[in-house]
Amino acid sequence: MTNHSLHPADTAVPKIAIIGGGLTGLLTATLLERAFSQDQNQKKSGSPHITIFEKSRSVGRLATRYRTDSHTTSDNKQNWQWAFGAQFFTAKTAQFQQFITPWLKTGLLQSWCAQVVTIAPAASSEELPDIQHKEQWNTVQPRYVSTPKMTAWGRALADELTQTTIKFQTRVAPLPQYAPTQTDKTTELFDETGVSLGRFDWVICTAPNGQALELMADSEFARQADILKPKMLACYTLMLGWDAGQQLPEAINSQKDPWDVAYVNDSPLDRIFVEHQKPAHDELLPSVTIHARNDWSQAHVDADIETVKTQLLQAAQQLLRWNTDSAPSQVDCHRWRYAATDIDAQSKENNDVLGILIDQQHRWIVSGDWCGQGNIESCFQMAQDTVKAIVSR
Ligand SMILES: Cc1cc2nc3c(=O)[nH]c(=O)nc-3n(C[C@H](O)[C@H](O)[C@H](O)COP(=O)(O)OP(=O)(O)OC[C@H]3O[C@@H](n4cnc5c(N)ncnc54)[C@H](O)[C@@H]3O)c2cc1C
Repeated sequence: MTNHSLHPADTAVPKIAIIGGGLTGLLTATLLERAFSQDQNQKKSGSPHITIFEKSRSVGRLATRYRTDSHTTSDNKQNWQWAFGAQFFTAKTAQFQQFITPWLKTGLLQSWCAQVVTIAPAASSEELPDIQHKEQWNTVQPRYVSTPKMTAWGRALADELTQTTIKFQTRVAPLPQYAPTQTDKTTELFDETGVSLGRFDWVICTAPNGQALELMADSEFARQADILKPKMLACYTLMLGWDAGQQLPEAINSQKDPWDVAYVNDSPLDRIFVEHQKPAHDELLPSVTIHARNDWSQAHVDADIETVKTQLLQAAQQLLRWNTDSAPSQVDCHRWRYAATDIDAQSKENNDVLGILIDQQHRWIVSGDWCGQGNIESCFQMAQDTVKAIVSR
């Protein structure tokens, strides 16, 4: 890669690059815009130029897959839909609660007062699984979902950005090694074909930690060793769908103990989510998302995906006991290599997390949910910390 003759970024109007258009990237851009607009009122300084580079075609691990039933007519299209990444999120801090309020008012975000059960496979094929009531999620400690699908909130955040350009399908190449000088502290980024993406006063990397490790490997990033600290675990997700009017397995459709979310015991499966019972999801064809256990997924992370799909489908059949009439007509499986941050219960309780990694000399920040507890609320926390670090300079 050559250093093209670009001028250093204008320091009065900071140019900020964010690698990754997941929630951490989008929330960081949103909070940066807000912080600089407040600063502008007070000090009449310029607005930042923010660019988000995202290698895929859409926003991060907030993922929705849908499939249209080819039997339905064009004016009565019906979909199966699966939130195959994050299913819901919490907002435990006052700041995050306040941040999401506008979307709660519009109904784009809604609380999910799900009936939650535990479920374990039955001892014999004649019996139904053991289903025990666990709790009902409520509005005191709400779990939120985005409607009509999980990706909607990410898209809404992206649409509301006014000083940020999002470049999809742009994969940033690993940062080259270089030393900032007294007169030029900017970093030039390149895409994977070696084309310059511009010079930036700050570079914020929000890629999952395995990818952050590769991006920063040769750059002499001052906190490189810390990227290795959190252990990431994989997750396989099974997506099941049933035709309109088709009989559902009794274990899902129990009249006696209706449920929306199940925590699974004694199985490679971990949690089951009934998609068509979420708020504002009732137009869907019957759709169920099942996350496999993280330890099981990690142990099978390099296995052939079709083999894993068969194994998980067998486990689901053993648990939910469908017959030929009530077998799902749609089956899909997705592998997440970096799904969850492995945190012990004590550290989780004390919010004892790594935090964002700052290299003041280069003006680089490595961030992402994995610097926190590995959930959506952590994305907000890490975005807040990043903005604080930049604004304090
Ligand atoms: C199976 C699963 C279930 C989950 N369930 C929940 C849940 O119920 N509740 C909850 O709160 N959280 C849950 N989570 C976690 C939640 O999804 C994440 O915390 C959140 O989406 C992470 O956002 P992020 O922006 O930090 O990372 P990501 O969404 O991974 O975004 C990083 C982005 O960086 C991009 N990128 C990487 N390298 C480059 C590069 N070189 N150039 C350009 N772009 C690059 C990637 O394409 C990606 O879009 C779940 C996650 C998974 C996988």
